[in-house]
This record gives sequence, C-alpha cells and structure tokens, in this order.
Amino acid sequence: MVTGGCGFVGSHLCEQLLAAGTDVVAVDNFATSTPENVAGLLHRPGFELLQHDVTEPLPDIGSFDVIYHLASAASPPDYLRLPIETLRAGSLGTTNALELAERDHARFVLASTSEVYGDPAVHPQPESYWGNVNSVGPRSVYDEAKRYAEALTMAYRRERGVDTGIARIFNTYGPRMRADDGRVVPTFIARALANAPLTVAGTGEQTRSLCYVEDTVLGLRALAGSDHPGPINIGNPHELSVRALAEEIRIATDSSSTLEYIEEAVDDPKRRCPDISLAQRELGWQPMITRTEGLRRTIEWFARQRCVARTV
Ligand code: NAD
Ligand code: UDP
Repeated sequence: MVTGGCGFVGSHLCEQLLAAGTDVVAVDNFATSTPENVAGLLHRPGFELLQHDVTEPLPDIGSFDVIYHLASAASPPDYLRLPIETLRAGSLGTTNALELAERDHARFVLASTSEVYGDPAVHPQPESYWGNVNSVGPRSVYDEAKRYAEALTMAYRRERGVDTGIARIFNTYGPRMRADDGRVVPTFIARALANAPLTVAGTGEQTRSLCYVEDTVLGLRALAGSDHPGPINIGNPHELSVRALAEEIRIATDSSSTLEYIEEAVDDPKRRCPDISLAQRELGWQPMITRTEGLRRTIEWFARQRCVARTV
C-alpha cells in the first residue's frame, strides 16, 4: 500500500514498485494531486487506486506486506492552505496506517521530512540532531505533524512491536510536480519556460539540497527492504543557494527571465543539507542522478506538459 500514491513522490514509488513486479494499492483523496499522475498505471495488472481519506479508518481491502505512508500535503503553500488537514493526516492518518501495519504484520515506512530539523543550528544535519522548530509558527502544522508522526511510529514499534522505518526525506524534485504547487523547482521551471521573472524569496542566499525523485524512491524502497528503524536521511548532499538554482534553471531553459526578489517566507530554514552517511552505511544507498541530469529530465517533462496544454 502506498498512501498518498497519486502525489508526486507516491506516483513514482507506485511506478517503480510495479516495474519491480510488486502489486500496489494506492490510497489517495486527491487533496493536493489528481488521478492524472497515475493515469498510466490504471490499466496495469497489479495496480489498484482507492479514493479514500486516510484520516478515516482504512477499509478492509486485503492484506499488505509493506505500507508506505506518504499521504500529507508537502508543499508549503499547500500545507499553509490546508493547516488542519495536514495535522490530521500526520496524526489520525498515521494512526490508521500504523493500525493496518500492526494487523497485517507489515513493514511500515513513514515519509517524514527534513523539516523536523526546522531552521537547523547544526549543518549538515545528521539524524542525531533534534532540530530547531517553531511549534506555533505557520510552518508548524507540517513540521509538528511529522514530528508527531515520528513519535507515534516509534510508540507503535516499542509498544506493539510493529516493524517500522522512518525516512527523513530532503527536498525532492522531478516530473509530475504541479507547476503551481509553489515549491521552488516547479515554480522556477514553469516561469523560466514562460520567460516570466523567477521569484527569489528573501536574499536567495538560503540553501537547499535537491534530490531527483527516482533516487528518493530508491532510498524509500531500500529502507522498506531493510529492518532499520531509522530515522534515516534520504536526500542529496549537494547544497546550493536558491539564487544559484535560479541561475542554473535560467541557463538550462535558455530563458530570458529576470530575477524578481519577493518577501522571505516566515521561519524559512536558512540552510539545509543532509548528512547521508547512515543511509550509505546501513542501506547501501546514495543518490546517483546529478542535478544537471535531473533538471534536464524535469525541464523536458514541464516543456512537454506546456505543449500538451497548448494543443488541447
Ligand atoms: P504531494 O502533495 O504531491 O503528495 C501527497 C499526496 O498525499 C497527494 O496525492 C495528496 O492528495 C495525498 N493526501 C494528502 N492528504 C491525504 C489524506 N488525508 N488522505 C489521502 N491522501 C492524502 O507531495 P509529495 O511531494 O509527493 O510528498 C509525499 C510525501 O513525502 C509527503 O508525506 C511529504 O511530507 C514527504 N516529503 C516530500 C518531500 C519532497 O520534497 N517532495 C520532502 C520531504 C518529505
Ligand atoms: N522559494 C523561492 N521562490 C519560490 C518558491 C520558493 O525563492 O518561488 C524558496 C523558499 O522560500 C525556500 C526555498 O526556495 O527558501 C525552498 O522552498 P520550497 O517551497 O521548494 O521547499 P521547502 O521550503 O519546503 O524546503
């Protein structure tokens, strides 16, 4: 089972699992996605799509070996628009998914996030760092939902013996991100392709470390295939500033876009970069796709969507 299976990461996970010969049930309520993301999978044998809100108990539709719990808004504009839904997905949704894992003696993988580190005071971030989160700021609906989900996952492991693994996913990008989801990569690519100004927040000196989605999904699968409890960072340690990313995307799209400086986001982390030594050691995993190649594939996909949009 993949909750959030129609989302950006979830749809790539479903696709990889099917390609590896694993049957998949994707559960999604389309809060931040559309079924379009899995349109290519709907008629494949072994794939099923269940429209369901994970904050409601999951219906009895068979038993599962592995449950990947991804259902949650993930883009800042999405979770700021859906604050209570995001807290409910992290709390009630995670409870329901863990209950199912307990019932089926399934391996449970939580899609947690680098946001649990907040605006980090330690750099790069190892899993042992406890974080620096504003528990009442606007971003807290996401950060604290994930921190609670991690605590709940560990409680089910300790108290109920559920076989759990926590992945702390760092910024991931690739095809199937919504052009309007507000995250930096789809926003810059969509605007660069339209020769519109690239909206750099604050000074643009804040950093992120971008992982191509195929690599992130391989990391999640490696964690599922292990018995490691995590938390374990899944991300690409190549860090760059938002301004440098804007320049890279402008060049890669051969765009005439200018840079437009907009207001900095509240509680925006200044630096973010994963220490991935634990994943390398315990899972034998590390990202393989360079940013040049990942951005090339992503830009190609966005350009194709624009062509399709123009012809319909
Ligand atoms: P996304 O918004 O594209 O996908 C999330 C999916 O969950 C959507 O299909 C949405 O409709 C679904 N969903 C939300 N609430 C639901 C509910 N109550 N019931 C059923 N479905 C629900 O986001 P994404 O980037 O694919 O992120 C997937 C997961 O990975 C999230 O849990 C996110 O927190 C985590 N994550 C992602 C990133 C990243 O950079 N993409 C980084 C860290 C963590
Ligand atoms: N950002 C930006 N312009 C945009 C969208 C985002 O400069 O149009 C910045 C944002 O303020 C943050 C960084 O890019 O500093 C990454 O933002 P994103 O929403 O992609 O991810 P997150 O903040 O969750 O890491």
